[in-house]
Amino acid sequence: VSSLLQSLPYFEARTGLNTPQRTMASHIVGYPRMGPKRELKFALESFWDGKSSAEDLQKVSADLRASIWKQMADAGIKYIPSNTFSHYDQVLDATATLGAVPPRYGYSSGEIGFDIYFSMARGNATVPAMEMTKWFDTNYHFIVPELGPDVKFTYASHKAVNEYKEAKALGVDTVPVLIGPVSYLLLSKPAKGVDKNFSLLSLLPKVLAVYKEVVADLKAAGASWIQFDEPTLVLDLDSHKLQAFTEAYAELESTLSGLNVLVETYFADVPAEAYKTLTSLKGVTAYGFDLVRGTQTVGLIKSGFPSGKYLFAGVVDGRNIWANDLTASLAILGELEGIVGKDKLVVSTSCSLLHTAVDLANETKLDDEIKSWLAFAAQKIVEVNALAKALSGARDEAFFPANAAAQASRKSSPRVTNEAVQKAAAALKGSDHRRATNVSARLDAQQKKLNLPILPTTTIGSFPQTVELRRVRREYKANKISEEEYVKSITEEIKKVVELQEELDIDVLVHGEPERNDMVEYFGEQLSGFAFTVNGWVQSYGSRCVKPPIIYGDVSRPKPMTVFWSSKAQSMTKRPMKGMLTGPVTILNWSFVRNDQPRSETTYQIALAIKDEVEDLEKAGINVIQIDEAALREGLPLRKSEQAHYLNWAVHAFRITNVGVKDTTQIHTHMCYSNFNDIIHSIIDMDADVITIENSRSDEKLLSVFREGVKYGAGIGPGVYDIHSPRIPPTEEIADRINKMLAVLEKNILWVNPDCGLKTRKYAEVKPALTNMVQAAKQIRNQL
Ligand code: GLN
Ligand code: ZN
Repeated sequence: VSSLLQSLPYFEARTGLNTPQRTMASHIVGYPRMGPKRELKFALESFWDGKSSAEDLQKVSADLRASIWKQMADAGIKYIPSNTFSHYDQVLDATATLGAVPPRYGYSSGEIGFDIYFSMARGNATVPAMEMTKWFDTNYHFIVPELGPDVKFTYASHKAVNEYKEAKALGVDTVPVLIGPVSYLLLSKPAKGVDKNFSLLSLLPKVLAVYKEVVADLKAAGASWIQFDEPTLVLDLDSHKLQAFTEAYAELESTLSGLNVLVETYFADVPAEAYKTLTSLKGVTAYGFDLVRGTQTVGLIKSGFPSGKYLFAGVVDGRNIWANDLTASLAILGELEGIVGKDKLVVSTSCSLLHTAVDLANETKLDDEIKSWLAFAAQKIVEVNALAKALSGARDEAFFPANAAAQASRKSSPRVTNEAVQKAAAALKGSDHRRATNVSARLDAQQKKLNLPILPTTTIGSFPQTVELRRVRREYKANKISEEEYVKSITEEIKKVVELQEELDIDVLVHGEPERNDMVEYFGEQLSGFAFTVNGWVQSYGSRCVKPPIIYGDVSRPKPMTVFWSSKAQSMTKRPMKGMLTGPVTILNWSFVRNDQPRSETTYQIALAIKDEVEDLEKAGINVIQIDEAALREGLPLRKSEQAHYLNWAVHAFRITNVGVKDTTQIHTHMCYSNFNDIIHSIIDMDADVITIENSRSDEKLLSVFREGVKYGAGIGPGVYDIHSPRIPPTEEIADRINKMLAVLEKNILWVNPDCGLKTRKYAEVKPALTNMVQAAKQIRNQL
């Protein structure tokens, strides 16, 4: 690799004397690791399957890193990050660097290798993996450090310095990136069995001792800049936590001396108090801000910015796929330049580009017009540099007009604007939408029609998706099988699922969703205003990636989307068949969304499309309709001050979807998380007739809501077993769970169902598990 790269001219430019490129101040916070065609995913999975060696994996990784550095260097980026590559997760990398391996993985000393590293990430035959949780409000998941008072921190992974040296050998002087010490601790959790009063921040001195070694190592290797990511600074932190930042950087000051130190924040603006703390940190010479999500930041900077320090201005959006409005960005940058001075302003991305797609060059199916509106990570690098160049007086006279033309075409394109939709959505705002009859009266009306037993049983929607099923869908999409054959196969599958549920004696049936690949994509493909990529993957966790649809225009529904399959399924049984839809908030949160109108507006448009579908299902004789809002919780803004507003329009959008149905039509919703204690009132305000929720991994949490006296009158089905595990839950265990729920909830509102859809399970697991579930419900019914 190195010989190949070293022959390229830019290495001379970078290692030689000051070239014009060096005066351009441009920076990238971080870069996707997966590769343009998910090369890392395939290399990892092949290694995990024992089909390739550690060396093979290292080779793929090194090539990816080299090509990323080369790409940034070629574009002229001045501050190129290193150590943003990861074989699994950057927080796990920090855990390895600190040697903070939980005891169950049997680590004793020495450099942490793949075996320990991947055991922590994925578990092994004898011990489970470490917990994974969402990285702020993104769909990326990090591995949560587990810390207790006895953790021995040692410098156990030299990855940061190794990558710095590796880049240097290729002729690229990089900015090594580390998770900041305070954010590391704030994102950790106390290990199991640790005393309740244990404070994670009490570990700060021990953690800093290792950070000092790492920094010294990087310095010795020749680094002149270092970047600490401290994204927790955008959260609502109390003064005690802010104090930890002050202490940490004061402690590091002498080690950091001689280096330029960037503290990077992202995903929101930094609250005023935290801004004060941040800009007073010892040893720090540069601050990075997200100017896309952080709408207050420019105001804060205007109110005061320490003289002589660098401002890294994140104007290029790292979380979306839209081309930057370069003229608008230049205006902001010009303003900032006036405050901090020309030589102290650095153009940057709003956050790591990890959260956007990799390279537009690989999109073969998008048309040129839509493509001209987009920028993936590779294109964003070019944008950052173009902005920096323009600031230094060397504006690219081809790039800027092309960008302006694309911005204008996006604004005026008839593909984007549908006036009827805009009017309909605008009419919704400011008004309220609620079903006229209250929920208990509705439940009575529905019961008369549905005649369900007490503790009715149901499932969440999907049934196991077999290889055969995926093949049928794939071949139909590729026009390899006829519509007739496709309909026949899917119909047979539905029939199988319906018969199985009747045999199991489930009360409210589902069709099993065999026609769906993904619960958002399926609807996006049938709605106007959506586009799909072929390679627009974004890392979700480990080797897993998602490919979010792009919402580029006003959303409308040209024709019914699910009525054909749902009525076919209903015709196969006398029992109620649930119609199965994805809700507007979930469609929004799992897509790349428009940035030219508020998220709420887009959601209202989707809500209207789903509303039409709900009403068509009702007309077709479907009496129970489930509208999944699996991702409602994850769209919750990071800062408390913004949460009420979000919940308000999100819940309103949900209600719009079903405001037009009869009292006798039963609306279900489903959510994929249980810790909604903080948003329980919003959930009640959704006014669904029945809500099914994930619960089995945290019974106590949910129960506590109701123990605390929250009034809940609608139907509720807290999941009675965990579908993420192949384990078959025994009848007694399920019965026990139901009994616990009965202790806090009225018996006539309780439903019995699994945690979530059964798509990822095998029939060999699903059949016995559901058998036990129905049996448990029957047992308890008899006792009531
Ligand atoms: N109806 C969907 C299913 O069963 C719900 C999936 C989800 O909540 N993530 O697959
Ligand atoms: Zn779910």
